Amino acid sequence: MLDTGGTARRLESYVDGAWRKGAGEGRPIANAATGETHALISSDGIDFAAALAWGRDAGGTALRRHTIHERALMLKAIGTELMAQKADFHAESLATGATPRDAWPDIEGGIGTLLTFASMARRELPNTKVLAEGPVEQLSKDGSFVGRHVLTPLTGVAVHINAFNFPVWGMLEKIAPSLIAGVPCLVKPASQTAYLTELVVRRILDMGVLPDGALQLVCGGAGDLLDHVTEQDVVTFTGSAATGRKLRTHPAIVENSVRFTMEADSLNAAILGPDAEPGTEEFDLFVKEVAREMTAKAGQKCTAIRRIMVPKGREEAVIDALSATLAKALPGLPGADGTRMGTLVSVGDRDGVREKIAEIAAEAEIVHGDPAAITVSSGDPDRGAFLNPVLLHCARPFEAEAPHSVEAFGPVSTLMAYDGIDEAVALARKGKGSLVSSVFTDDASVAADLTIGLAPFHGRVLIGNRGSAKSSTGHGSPLAPLVHGGPGRAGGGEEMGGMRGVKHFMQRTAVQGTPRMIAAVTGEWAEGAPAEQVTHPFRKSLAELKIGDQVVTDAREVTEADVEHFAEFTGDTFYAHMDSDAAKANPFFDDRVAHGYLIASFAAGLFVEPNPGPVLANYGVDNLRFLTPVYFGDSLRVQLTCKQINPREGTVYGEVRWDCRVTNQKDEAVALYDVLTMVAKEWPLPEGAGA
Ligand code: NAP
Repeated sequence: MLDTGGTARRLESYVDGAWRKGAGEGRPIANAATGETHALISSDGIDFAAALAWGRDAGGTALRRHTIHERALMLKAIGTELMAQKADFHAESLATGATPRDAWPDIEGGIGTLLTFASMARRELPNTKVLAEGPVEQLSKDGSFVGRHVLTPLTGVAVHINAFNFPVWGMLEKIAPSLIAGVPCLVKPASQTAYLTELVVRRILDMGVLPDGALQLVCGGAGDLLDHVTEQDVVTFTGSAATGRKLRTHPAIVENSVRFTMEADSLNAAILGPDAEPGTEEFDLFVKEVAREMTAKAGQKCTAIRRIMVPKGREEAVIDALSATLAKALPGLPGADGTRMGTLVSVGDRDGVREKIAEIAAEAEIVHGDPAAITVSSGDPDRGAFLNPVLLHCARPFEAEAPHSVEAFGPVSTLMAYDGIDEAVALARKGKGSLVSSVFTDDASVAADLTIGLAPFHGRVLIGNRGSAKSSTGHGSPLAPLVHGGPGRAGGGEEMGGMRGVKHFMQRTAVQGTPRMIAAVTGEWAEGAPAEQVTHPFRKSLAELKIGDQVVTDAREVTEADVEHFAEFTGDTFYAHMDSDAAKANPFFDDRVAHGYLIASFAAGLFVEPNPGPVLANYGVDNLRFLTPVYFGDSLRVQLTCKQINPREGTVYGEVRWDCRVTNQKDEAVALYDVLTMVAKEWPLPEGAGA
């Protein structure tokens, strides 16, 4: 266990370049399981205006000096080091009431999310400071006026206000995309579990990987923080819908049109398919998943299953099966052997959950558990925030409101029956927008109908069946490459979703001008921008190669013999290449045509520079389109232009994207595509680099 000196730890904020204590003694934060004071917290007197100014001036300026890949590599270094220190975080996490198993998604899941972002950014985004997005849009007939979207980092601070239940993941899943985008962060964890976030931030800052001002932390209340946000700042909020609504309408946020993302609570559903009778694998998977979601983190997960929907007539079977599983989930001290379920985050929270259960119970019947009677496997039920699982049954779900609107943020869920797919969808929609719902069925048409009905009201839908029983990540896990967030009640926000999440922290701007100007802004060559044909560009290393370096090849005629040879050699004897009458009957062709892949192959033969040189490998093509049929006797020519240069950090090479334009004797475009190559940074390669 981390040594706190036997006394409660006094938490500090890291703002404006230093660790700072808030004024006063600090408010005691109790260990969720033992009730002892674990930490003292105060942000009183912290100068939030100065913190934001330091983030913008020092942090933003320094981050924007780096490329996207350089920033991603910082995160990789941080994630790798954090993973090595995870035992310390697990030890500290016990005070939150989470069992080590419950803490895994928070700690390993959080660090894993950071690492996933770091690797996706290097794989999917160019190593640049500005992101060009989408195609070059032709805005004039003669090609002299074009448009392109560019994304640049906002110059403000990303203020991340987080909920108590994921003190590590909640921070890391947000700072990863912000920092990759080049936007500094100020993290405000929920006070109740801020001690764990503080520990992780200390370790990150101790690494010295991030520039000054890139990451700040506020432990304690937010004070007047939001009064100081400006038009270039972003506020992301995770927490209850009630707090979110308040913050969303904060005058500074409204007046400055500050980007505000909200991830709030939601009444997520799990739907048992009509085909999933007792005895089927899907029935068992459903029961297991619902029980897991009710008990993991003692049900204190924003994605937990709050509403259980089963086909009419199957209520009793599901209640019996669930009750049998839940009966085994006795809460206990999170670190103790044999503990099946941890505690809520605080005794005060338990009171709140009991009140919410009472509200739901006014329209439903408790069929398993007793919120007033606590049975534990270890620990003192009078001091720790223990609560046994509570299952309710709502017999009239269409008339009832509370089961669809009251979030009892604990091990609590309400079962209800539906009659037909449309009713299941209608019930799920009564949640008015959720983060996630899941569907358990082995019938693909049921899965499709339910999912399409649920989708407009959800950020994520999980389909569970026997085929993914072993590999599924489960209902409750948001994943870095997939969107997290949901409409309506769930906050209307969107986080993660792979590189889409990075773009939330950047401004998209449509830039219009000549191709030369657009190429200068984006760093990408565009048709119509200046090009230079001096040395064959395949003879140039990245040290010499420039955007716009070009080769225009000699022409090559395509003959019937070429097409027949290619057909026989590859086995591609599709009739349009082989049979004149059949080809003519095809609406696209006047006669036999050359294979598209023959055209691409001839193009490579035309533009290649065959000798050993800085071009190391061809790793594919993008956006290949065959635009005009090639008939026997046509002659092809290639214009290959260096379009984008993407040096890779930590290697001897980089990626080069070439604009490839194959034309015929009438100068019609026959094929257009991007050729993707790996090119050495220097040529010859440094000693030993070829091994
Ligand atoms: P909360 O009470 O709404 O607090 C969330 C955050 O807002 C905390 O950091 C809190 O700070 C801060 N806050 C409260 N009042 C504020 C104010 N006036 N100005 C600025 N910040 C303020 O929620 P919670 O109890 O921590 O979390 C539980 C809720 O979060 C549940 O409803 C759960 O469903 C939801 N949640 C949603 C997601 C998601 O991704 N959608 C994830 C996790 C949790 P203090 O702690 O210092 O008051």
